[in-house]
Amino acid sequence: MRTDGTNPTGSPSIPLHRPYLTGAELSYLSQAITSGCIRGDGPFTRRCAGLLEQKFAIGKVLMTPSCTAALELAATLCDLGPGDEVILPSFTFVSTANAIVRLGARPVFVEIRADTLNLDESRIEAALTPRTRAIFPVHYGGIACEMGRIMAIANAHGLRVVEDAAQAVDACYRGRALGSIGHLGTYSFHETKNLVSGEGGALCCNAPELIERAEILRDKGTNRAKFFRGEVDKYTWVDVGASAIPSEIACAFLFAQLEAMDAIKARRRAIDRRYREGLSSLATAGRLRFPTIPEGCDSPFHTVFLMLESGSTRDALMAYLRERGVMATFHFIPLHDSPMGHRLGYREGDLPLTEDLAARLLRLPTFFDLSEAEQSRVIDLVTRFFTQHAPAPKRREPSLASVDW
Ligand SMILES: *Cc1c(COP(=O)(O)O)cnc(C)c1O
Repeated sequence: MRTDGTNPTGSPSIPLHRPYLTGAELSYLSQAITSGCIRGDGPFTRRCAGLLEQKFAIGKVLMTPSCTAALELAATLCDLGPGDEVILPSFTFVSTANAIVRLGARPVFVEIRADTLNLDESRIEAALTPRTRAIFPVHYGGIACEMGRIMAIANAHGLRVVEDAAQAVDACYRGRALGSIGHLGTYSFHETKNLVSGEGGALCCNAPELIERAEILRDKGTNRAKFFRGEVDKYTWVDVGASAIPSEIACAFLFAQLEAMDAIKARRRAIDRRYREGLSSLATAGRLRFPTIPEGCDSPFHTVFLMLESGSTRDALMAYLRERGVMATFHFIPLHDSPMGHRLGYREGDLPLTEDLAARLLRLPTFFDLSEAEQSRVIDLVTRFFTQHAPAPKRREPSLASVDW
């Protein structure tokens, strides 16, 4: 794209995402402001938490200022410390690993599956050591990890499970909401996610024995929640806490989004379906692949992504689309191969599958008000790239993940 926002096709650019407004945000914001209660844990914070608890059958939801804050609380609730190890994918956002590393524990990166790009449950047991304390699965794009197997491994070895469900609000695994299955789960309402409050998140407390301490850690290490409930006659400092309560302003905005959850998911599902249909002949011809949504799983379609046959095809297609104003984008740089990953002792080549899959992934524009014409333009451009600019290779380039093609 040129810096003035135009592109050689003369069409306006199509962003990767654009936050959607339901129309109820301003009215809820003005209610919060005129009520005089704009701090945290007021009526809108409780309404948001209550809606999530009810809709997703979660014992206790604590709203937080971000998913990052929720992951940090979760890591503390797992009692992580120096010498401990936590299993997680390298293909994730930095916050999943930061939560572990900031407590002095070691992130043990395990390869991902080629079909979903989620933690490969069949490789977890080989990564266990006597120091393993927890597993942090990440539901990439909103598609569920194999939670049945992961929980069975965790229970057999006495490990905690924290689901990073940042991208998986309103997603399902065998009839259960993601975020409600592990001992703890975390949600994000960041501007780039499906349901937004600018910055925002939630901690799902599914293990009842963790709820009381979670409330304390989130409220500066005090037992103020018990005081508000009348369970103690004054509140005081009882633990080392954080300030992780969002304001009513953020929760008033979010409540409007949570109420529109069903419509938002339906729209994103339609967008995903149209991409799959529009590009089905290229998929059949083996030029690209969509992720698999496993049996019994329901996705909120946070990310619509393609897997290309090689990293060089991905890069060429991404450049081709961007030149024409379509902001298709790669995703996570595997954490083990980042400067911080190297400081932890990891190197390029340590996780060849993850590296290969990350290099072949391309995200397509997906947002509520993506128009039919805009989506057609994306589909046409991808099709044209393959027919005109990247004729089918005689022999496919060798790929480490070739099992999958
Ligand atoms: C977005 C995201 C986060 C962080 O969410 P914030 O609310 O921005 O802190 C964490 N993990 C994953 C997988 C994410 O996609």
